[in-house]
Amino acid sequence: MRPQEHAQLSAVAAAAAWPWLKQDVWIPFAASILIDADHYIWHAITQRTLSLRSALHYFQQSNPPRIADQRLLHHPLVLALLLFLAVRLRSRLLGLILAGLTFHVCLDRFHNSRMDRLKRELNEQAHFTCPTCGVQLDELELHTVHTPRVILKRYQPDNFVVLCPDCHHAAHQRPAGSVSA
Ligand SMILES: [Zn+2]
Ligand SMILES: [Zn+2]
Repeated sequence: MRPQEHAQLSAVAAAAAWPWLKQDVWIPFAASILIDADHYIWHAITQRTLSLRSALHYFQQSNPPRIADQRLLHHPLVLALLLFLAVRLRSRLLGLILAGLTFHVCLDRFHNSRMDRLKRELNEQAHFTCPTCGVQLDELELHTVHTPRVILKRYQPDNFVVLCPDCHHAAHQRPAGSVSA
């Protein structure tokens, strides 16, 4: 899920949690957004550059490398360790940070499962044939044609198309404003 979508949904969750958390609500809110810094750090280390632009470009490739293992802050073990510490130290601060991180990871899980399902459905609809060049493959890649402003419409099938890797790569070379993943 894109950082701006995380920010939107975290803001909604923060507003909902306001009656209970009051001024502390910014802690889980900040945690749920800053967790994505691990993408940036991972990129900075592996690509040996601190350029934010380069990192954004890197993750907007047609098929960005799967980095689940390297996403340290997203890792279930990190969350479990934090939970242990929060309980052990009876730390409200750690608990709030953990709530923000968990919210973020749950959104990512939800997003990935929706995207996987869309990919399967659209592949079947297209009979595993790339609509641009006609090549037939075991599985085509899911490409986002349009990202709606309203997050509720995010997973409508007409926002996506399945393409072969070559056509997908070509689609990302075009300077279209709405291309995302
Ligand atoms: Zn193609
Ligand atoms: Zn794409």
